[in-house]
Amino acid sequence: MHPSNPAHLPRLFVADDLAIGVPVSLPAAQTHYLSRVMRRGVGDGLRLFNGRDGEMLAHLTEISRNAAICRPETLLRAQEAEPDLWLAFAPLKREATELVVEKATELGASRLIPVLTARCNTQRINPERWRAIAMEAAEQSERMSLPSIAEPVKLPALLAAWPADRPLIAAIERTSASPITAPVGPAGLLIGPEGGFAPDELEFMRRHPFLVSASLGPRILRAETAAIVGLALLQARNGG
Ligand code: SAH
Repeated sequence: MHPSNPAHLPRLFVADDLAIGVPVSLPAAQTHYLSRVMRRGVGDGLRLFNGRDGEMLAHLTEISRNAAICRPETLLRAQEAEPDLWLAFAPLKREATELVVEKATELGASRLIPVLTARCNTQRINPERWRAIAMEAAEQSERMSLPSIAEPVKLPALLAAWPADRPLIAAIERTSASPITAPVGPAGLLIGPEGGFAPDELEFMRRHPFLVSASLGPRILRAETAAIVGLALLQARNGG
C-alpha cells in the first residue's frame, strides 16, 4: 500500500495543460520511473505540475512499457508566483555546472543564463541536460515551475541587453564591496568563472548603473559555492 498523504506521492513535471478529468499521457522516461523505480501501477496516485495550472492529484489509469496515462482529479495547490531571480554564471567543468543547475533550481532561480567570460572554463553547454536536471530538481523541491534556460551569451551582450530596472548583483571577490543584500523585486545574480572576472571585465561591469558589486565574505569560494551561497542569501532575505 502506498501512503495516502499526497506529499508522499511521486511528483512529475509535464508539458501538457492540466485540467481536472482530462487525461494526460506520460513519456517513456516518466513511465519507467513510475513503474520500475517507484513500482507504481494502475490506480496509484501521483502529483503533476506544469508551471501554469497548479499542482494536481492524479491517478494512473493505464500503464504499459513505454507509456502511461493518468487522470488529474483534484487541485492540490493553485499556481503561485515565484521569486523573480535570475542567475547568470560562467559555465564551469561539467560536474560543477550541473551542480549549479540543480541547486539553483532548488533555491528558486527563475532563469539560468550561461555567460561567456574571458576566463571561462568552457564555452559549451548542453541545454537538454540542463533542462533534465532542472526538471528533476523542480519535481523534488516542490517548486511550481521550472527555471527558463537562456542561450549562452557573452558578458558584454548580457550587460547590453540587461533590463535597466532589474538590479544585477555581481559577486566580486577580493574587493571592499559590501556584503550581498537582496533588493526588493526582480533581481539577478552574476557569478564569474573559476579564474574570476578579468580586470577589464570588472572595469566594464562597473560602468553599468544597474550592476551592484557584492561580497560573499572574506574567503574565496569556488564558483559553484558562490552561486549557491549567493542565491541562498538573496532568497533568505526575501523569505523566498
Ligand atoms: N580565481 C579567483 C577566484 C574566483 S572565484 C581568485 O583567486 O581571485 C569564482 C567566482 O565566485 C568569482 O568570479 C565570484 O563571482 C565568486 N566569488 C567567490 N568568492 C567570492 C567572495 N568571497 N565574494 C564575492 N564573490 C565571490
